Amino acid sequence: MDGQGMVQVYTGDGKGKTTASLGLAMRAVGHGLKVLMLQFLKNDENYGEIKSVKYLPDFEICQVGRDCFVNFANPDPIDVKMVRSGWEKAKDAITAQKYDIVILDEINVAIAYGLLPVKEVIDFLECRNSGKTEIVFTGIAAPLELIELADLVTEMKNVKHYFNLGIESRTGIDH
Ligand code: ATP
Ligand code: MG
Repeated sequence: MDGQGMVQVYTGDGKGKTTASLGLAMRAVGHGLKVLMLQFLKNDENYGEIKSVKYLPDFEICQVGRDCFVNFANPDPIDVKMVRSGWEKAKDAITAQKYDIVILDEINVAIAYGLLPVKEVIDFLECRNSGKTEIVFTGIAAPLELIELADLVTEMKNVKHYFNLGIESRTGIDH
C-alpha cells in the first residue's frame, strides 16, 4: 500500500459503518491487498459478508463475539473475555504486518461500554510500529480520544431509517 498506514473511524447513528468498511475491503482486494476484518460482539454466519469472503481469498473475516445478546449495562464476564481475546488478535495481526488493512468492526461499541479500556487502545495505536497497516474502527459512539487520534473520521448521521416504520433487518441489505 502507498505510504504509512492510517487510522480510520466510521461512527455515528446512521446506517453504513460496517458496509463502508466492507466496500473499502472490496476495493483493496481488487488491488491485491490483504484485508482482515474482526467482527466484535458478533457470531452469526448468516451475514452476507461471511458468505462473500469465500470468493475473495485475500479477505478474511473472523467473528470474535458470541451469538447472544450482550447486556451492556452489566456485561457477562464471557463477553468481556471475548472482546479482550479479539483485541489481542487485532494487536497480533497489526504487529505482524501480515495484512494491509485490519478492520475492527463494532469495536467502538465495545470500547464505549467499557468492555475494552480506551486507554489501552490509544496506547497501542500511539506506540505501534504498524508500517503500512491501515486500521479501521467501526461502530456507533466512537470515543473522543480515538476521534482525536484518527487520521480520518466519518460520522454516519441517521436522517431516516425504515426500521422506525417497523421494517426489520433485510437479507442482503442489513445483514
Ligand atoms: P450496516 O451494517 O448496514 O452498515 P451499521 O454498521 O452502520 O450498518 P450498526 O450500528 O452496526 O450499523 O447496526 C447494524 C444494523 O442496524 C443494520 O441492520 C443496520 O441497518 C441497522 N441500523 C443502522 N443504523 C440504524 C438506525 N439509525 N436505526 C435503525 N437501525 C439501524
Ligand atoms: Mg455495524
